[in-house]
This record gives sequence, structure tokens and C-alpha cells, in this order.
Amino acid sequence: MESKEKIKIVVAIASFAVLSIFFTAQYRKRRYRKCTQSSCYLHTEPKPQSSFKRVLADNSYSAFKHLKLSESNSETSLNSHPYEAEISALLENAEIEFSFGTESMDLKMSDSYVWVETELQLKELADVLSKQRVFAVDTEQHSLRSFLGFTALIQISTQNEDYLVDTIALHDAFDVLQPVFANPSICKVFHGADNDVLWLQRDFHIYVVNLFDTAKACEVLSKPQKSLAYLLETYCGVATNKLLQREDWRQRPLSVEMLEYARTDAHYLLYIANCLIAELRQHDSENSCCPDDKLHFVLEASRRSNTVCLQLYIKEIEITPGESAASSIISRHLNGQGGISSKACDLQFQDLVRRLCTWRDLMARVHDESLRYVLSDQAIIALADKVPTTQKEICTLISQADLNVDSLSSSSILPSPSPVVCSHLEDFNYLFQDKMGKLDDVFLEILQKHLGPEGSCPLSVFNYAILSKTNLKLTYRLVSKQNGIKNSKQVGQKASRELFVKKFSCKSPVYHNCRIFASDGRLLCYCDRRKLEWYVRRGLAKLVDDNPLAIMLLFEPKGRPEDEDNDFYVQSKKNICVGCGERNHYLRYRIIPSCYRMHFPEHLKSHRSHDIVLLCVDCHEVAHSAAEKYKKKIAAEFGIPLFVLKVVDSREAQVASQLSTSEVNTVEAGVSPLQLRTAAMALLRHGPRMPSKRREELRQTVMKYYGGREITEEDLEKALLVGMSPHERKRLERKKGMSLKHSKGTGFPNKEQESNARSMGTSPIDNALKVDGEGGLNTTKGEACGKQENGNDLEITMEVLAGDSNNLSPDRSEMSEMKDMCVMDTDNCESRSQSEGTLDLFYPKSDGNASPKHNPKLSLLGHGPHGKEVVDHLLKEYGEDGIREFCQRWRQAFVEAIHPRFLPAGWDVMHRI
Ligand code: AMP
Ligand code: MN
Ligand code: ZN
Repeated sequence: MESKEKIKIVVAIASFAVLSIFFTAQYRKRRYRKCTQSSCYLHTEPKPQSSFKRVLADNSYSAFKHLKLSESNSETSLNSHPYEAEISALLENAEIEFSFGTESMDLKMSDSYVWVETELQLKELADVLSKQRVFAVDTEQHSLRSFLGFTALIQISTQNEDYLVDTIALHDAFDVLQPVFANPSICKVFHGADNDVLWLQRDFHIYVVNLFDTAKACEVLSKPQKSLAYLLETYCGVATNKLLQREDWRQRPLSVEMLEYARTDAHYLLYIANCLIAELRQHDSENSCCPDDKLHFVLEASRRSNTVCLQLYIKEIEITPGESAASSIISRHLNGQGGISSKACDLQFQDLVRRLCTWRDLMARVHDESLRYVLSDQAIIALADKVPTTQKEICTLISQADLNVDSLSSSSILPSPSPVVCSHLEDFNYLFQDKMGKLDDVFLEILQKHLGPEGSCPLSVFNYAILSKTNLKLTYRLVSKQNGIKNSKQVGQKASRELFVKKFSCKSPVYHNCRIFASDGRLLCYCDRRKLEWYVRRGLAKLVDDNPLAIMLLFEPKGRPEDEDNDFYVQSKKNICVGCGERNHYLRYRIIPSCYRMHFPEHLKSHRSHDIVLLCVDCHEVAHSAAEKYKKKIAAEFGIPLFVLKVVDSREAQVASQLSTSEVNTVEAGVSPLQLRTAAMALLRHGPRMPSKRREELRQTVMKYYGGREITEEDLEKALLVGMSPHERKRLERKKGMSLKHSKGTGFPNKEQESNARSMGTSPIDNALKVDGEGGLNTTKGEACGKQENGNDLEITMEVLAGDSNNLSPDRSEMSEMKDMCVMDTDNCESRSQSEGTLDLFYPKSDGNASPKHNPKLSLLGHGPHGKEVVDHLLKEYGEDGIREFCQRWRQAFVEAIHPRFLPAGWDVMHRI
């Protein structure tokens, strides 16, 4: 009878096990079927953290930036603790000031608590806390669906109330609690604060000053245990289920059990702290005979607690991403775990493990997921072992590997393969290919594939810095690859990047923050020093303050800042990158590309300072490439191609229109003025000596411009002048001693086309430097223009761009790469109102596999009449509102590309113009 019972139980357990394995397998099959999706899963699956606007610790491979309290110590002490002095003072003079009769505490947890989820509630909480002498704190984290983890809930208890703060809803507003946490006269009680202290720094720049850690008190008192569960049990008679710790704390609303658990973690802490302090004091009074004794209990507990506060959050960064995980997987298998130890010695196996770990690391960062969510260790082993060839095989291997492990441990079931794997299965082809080359290259190519201009995955506040911080390196790589130059030393790359930054960023603060007041005392604007001096010299204003400079106008200015409620123009602007806050270098960036802006009606151009911001080179590059992408979108949307399709006279137009009507609506069709000129120049100068293939390519480029017809030498000479200003033409004439006999012919571009193309075409790099060197916000009008006579830049640019890579000596390669990136926009000369010496950088297109027919660098340099046509269209169809809305779209695109965290207050996407 008894044995029958036993058998029954065994059978029941066995069938349960079989069933659960079956269902798990079914579940995975379901996942597997989904595995055919090709676009990134993040496009359809928003995560709570995607609503965060300000993220202090992003997933890039760069160091965490700690809070800086004063400008002065920022250079001397990189990443020092902002409250080091306050905490040191507490360590030296430890006193635990708070104590209250435990009898005054209502130990029982009532039914009521405060759920804090709005900014107003949070401010009220900050207010309440600022009046306390002590409060208790605990935090709950989420780490599965996040790379670095984030705080999902903070529990704060005062003697009177339990607060549960929704740190997801309030993520961007949470710094209002900075002051109370940093206030040395308010004691914060935590249990085991080591992690909490770092998490608060990571997510909110909150630094705890004056901590009492009940776990440290347990240590000092040599308690048999120091877990919170033990203390709750011993002092409060409360049992907790610590398993709830691992719940998904992102969920809303939280379940009743989770709410109860979360409150319990903080509610009793004040009471427990009080009990422990009483015990510490008890010990001290017993030892009062020797007051100098090192083992002063209260003091020691306080010291140990505040030492925790001195910890600084750091992002762990490996030289080769994923390397340490790979080493540990390999060494575990060298030690014979997993049953394929013989394989572990195999170099191919090791190499694949490394590649997979690097991929996993990068993908976890790009998608803001934990490593284990992306791909498990056991799946990596299985893949490296079997080297699957089809996508189906890959998925089967992964889910089997996970099934084997999961059915043994009862850990929560994760989708296997993960959505990350499923939506990026093609990556495995790269990874398994032998010809992929070095790990570094794999990394960069995959990064480009996912986050590059045509990348598959959405950019986010968490991942954009991975791209921007790696992009220069990447660009160099791809450029040098294209030019057939050896990917030489990283040192050189680093040096040239520094050079790049030094050369092209603004030399002196852009915003001088001098103020101009109206005669009635109203602040009109901030401006640079020069403008201010100009007014004073002419007796138009008087000095009213000298540090920082301020003047009052002695006349009534024509206009006042139009929008009464917009404080943008009267904001003091910071000389930092509005994207990432970088303060060491920055350059101006135009949010609304000048190819459009220059065609706006004059009065709509007046308040341009709103749409010119400072960006570091990294953010500049991201913004620029997003803008290029957005231009294409605009081109497609309006049906106005980006490039000059052809400039033909009416006779030729007929022929041409028959030839290529289908091309008209495609964004990429046509040639840019620069592309055209370069090709024509190369053909004229080197045509007969060129390899025939190259000659044919260039001929095709020029032919495209002429609507596909055969071209003559005369056509080539005409093409040389497309988009050139008269003095550029003269200069070319002088320099080349060329007779421009055909230049007045019928096919000559008309004035309008000229100015369009000129404004977007090449211009001397050296001039870019000069313009930039002027620094000030309102550099003298026309300064940028006057100096074009002296350079031989055009020649250099052309040679570089002609794609004749054999001509480049190794010494020059670096220089030319630099030049490829920087071509100045000359529209300063175009219009008097565009007086700011804004430098536009042009980057080589970095998707690496641009069509061989067109040098990818060329395609970005000019957009023919596109800008004017778009603006004309807008004005015609929608009037000035059309322009306003157009500007708003560009601002929105900028915000989406950069997620700027340091825009001046008052900057607004919806700004009227
Ligand atoms: P606690 O200090 O117990 O409130 O834990 C705070 C957070 O740490 C939890 O929300 C979890 O995210 C994390 N945590 C602590 N211990 C564990 C654990 N053993 N396993 C997983 N997560 C944990
Ligand atoms: Mn907790
Ligand atoms: Zn993706």
C-alpha cells in the first residue's frame, strides 16, 4: 500500500516533469517560429526605459561621468567624489545624532502608504524629507532587460509614512532628491547600502552623505547574521520572503505581495537602527573606561557606514568587449566541464567563442539587454562547437542548449533564442565566416550594421554614444580600407582624432554671455563681446556691468524677443556640447541645414541662434549623418531629388527627359556639382593616362549630368564651372591657365543654379579653419568669404576625391582622410544674415559598401537645387507656416538623433521659427 502511494507520487512527479519539459519545448517552438522576423524587435517592443530622456550611465564603452559640483576642481580631479569633503568630515567626527524612543514608533505597518509618481508629489516628498533628521531607504533594481540595470523603485520611510517612489515614471525628475541625500545633517538609514549607494549615483547622480547602515552595525556588534531577514525576524517578529527580491520590479501596478515586500524592506529600518544604536551605545558605556579605544562602537558603525558612501560607481570597460566572458567560458571548458573539453583546445572553437562574446556584448549594449537575455553561455558553447550553417540550425542549437540547462535548474524561462538573436540572425553569417578578419573589424562592421546610418536597430539614449564614441575610429577604418591603405596603428588614429578635434573645434568660448539690456532694463539677449563693444564704441549703448559684461542700449531697438513666454534668448548659454555635455571641445551645428535655411524669406532667418547649437565632434558626426538621412527622406517625400539631375539647355532637355524620366523621383539619381566637377577635372587632366575602367566611370558621371548623351571636351570644360562662383571661376582660370572659351555658351548654368550649388559645394578647408578660429558668436559679416584666394585647396580636394588612391603616399593618407571629413559650407557669404561663422563638417559616408561607381565621399557634398525647390514648394503650398513646420521637423529629427541632454532651457522643438 505504502509503496503504491510512493509509486503514484513518483509517477506524478515524473509526468509533471515530462509535461513541463514538453510545454517549455512548445513555448520555445513558438519562439522559434517567430525567429523568421527580420527587422529589429525593438521597433515593435517598447521598454519602460525607452521613455527615459536623461541617462547618466549609457551603454557606451566610455567612463561614467560623476557629478561635478564646481567648475574649478573639474580639471584637477577627474571623477572624484563630489562630496568627499563632507563625508571625510563625518568620518573624522562621527556622531550619530538621531535617536528616539522606540516606544514612540508605530512598529506595525499600516495599510496606508504614499505612491509617488508625479513630479509634484516628488517635490512634496523632497520637502518632507528636508525637514527630517533621519529617514530609511531601500531600492529595487531591474537587471534582466537592461544592460547596466536601473532602479525601478525606491522605498523611503519616515517615522510617520512609507513612500514608494516610482523611479521609472520619475526617472528624469529624480534629481530633486539630490539635496536631501547629500545633506550631512540628515541621516539616511539603509540595510547593506553598498549597491544602493552606487545605483543611486548611476541613475540619478544622487550621493548619500551621512549613512547609517544596519548591516555595518551588525558587523560591529558581531551579530550571528547580518541579513535584513534576520533583523526583521529578531527585532520585529516579521517574516519576509526574499524571493520577491528577484521579481520584475518594472511591472505596474505592482502586485499586492510586491508592494508589501517593498514597504517591509524600508518600514522597519528606523526601528531596527534605533535598536542597534542603543546596543552600540550600551557597548560604549560598558567600555567607557578607555574612551580613546579604537573600538568605539557607535563611532565604528558610523565610520564603516560612511566609508560606503565614498564608493564611486564605475562602468566596467574591457579593452576588447566580451573578452573576460570569453576567457571564462574557454577556461571552464579547458577544465573539462560541459563534455566537449577536447574542443576547447581547438583554436577555431576559441576564436568563435570570442567572436560570439563580443557580439553578445555589443548587442546587449545596443538593445539595452543583459548578456544572459541576449545569449546564454551554454548557447555560445554549442554554437562555437557545432558551427551551424543555416539559420534554422542556429536557432535549434540555441534552444536545445538552453533547454538542457533550464530543465535542470528551475530558473525562470527566458525566450530562447532571444528576440535579439531572432531578429539579427544574419549576423551569424559574419561571425562564422573565416574571412571576416580581426575581432576589431567584426565589432566595427556589426556596429555599423546595427547603428550606422542605415542601421537595423533604433538609436536610443542608451546606445547612441556607442556609435558616436566609436564612429571616428570606424570612419577612419572604412575610409582607409576604401582607399586601399593599410589599417595601420591605432596610435595614429588617436593622434589624428586629437588633431581633428583641435583643428576644427572652436578655439575660444562661443558664447561670451555678455548681456544687452533695453533702455527700460529688460534683458534683450546674450551676445559676444565684440558686438557689445561695437555698440559702446558708437555711443549707442552704455556699460552697466563689467563682469560679465552688460550694456544698456541708448536707443529703442527695432524688435524685442518676439515670444514673450520663450526665455531662450535670455538664457545664459553654456559652452558645452548640447548632446553629451562635453566641455573640452565643441563646434557649432546647424539644426536646419543651410541648403534650406538660406532660401527662407529674410525675416524668418532672423532668430537663427535658436537652431545653432554646440556639439562635440562625436555628436556632430551623429547629428550630421542623421541629417543626411533625413534629407533623403525629405527628398523622397517631396519628390525633389537631392542631386542635380542635369543642367541642360532647352534643346537638350527634350532629349534628356525622354531618356531618364524614371530617374527623376529617386533620391540618389543625378550628380552633385562637386561630383561633376571632380569627374570633369580628372578627365581633362588625366583622361588619356587613366585606366580605361576609371575613365569610363568618370565619363558616366558626366554623361548623367548631360542627360545621358555623349559628351565632348567642351562639355567637360563647361562642367568644370557648374556651381562655381565668379571668383572661384577666376581663380581656377588663373591657376590652371585654362582658356575658358566655352564658358559663355548656351549650356552654361544660370545664376540660380550657380548659387545653389556654390553654397553647398566644396570650399577650402583652410578657410574653414580661419572662420572657425574667429570664435565669436557673431563674427564680422563676410569674414569667411574674403580669404578664398590663397589656397590651393581645390586641387587637393579634387585629387583626394578623384579616388586615385595610388597617388596617396602613406604620409598623406591621414591628412587626406581629415580633409575628406571637413569641407566648409560657404553660405556665410551667401546672405548677410547668416553671419555666424558656422562650420559644417562633411563626413564620408560610412556604410563601407557604397556602389563602386560613385565615390561615397562625393555624394554628400552638394545637393544641387534641392534646397531651394523644397523651400519654394513649402512657401507655395503652405506659406510661412510650412516653413515653421519644416523647421520643427528638423528640430525633432535632431532631438531623435542626439537625445540632447544639455540643450539650453527654453529651447523648443515647437519654437515658432
Ligand atoms: P534588496 O536590497 O534586497 O532590496 O535588493 C535590491 C535589489 O537587488 C533587488 O531589487 C534585486 O534587483 C537585486 N538583488 C538583490 N539580491 C538578489 C539576488 N539574490 N538575485 C537577484 N537579484 C538580487
Ligand atoms: Mn529591497
Ligand atoms: Zn536590433
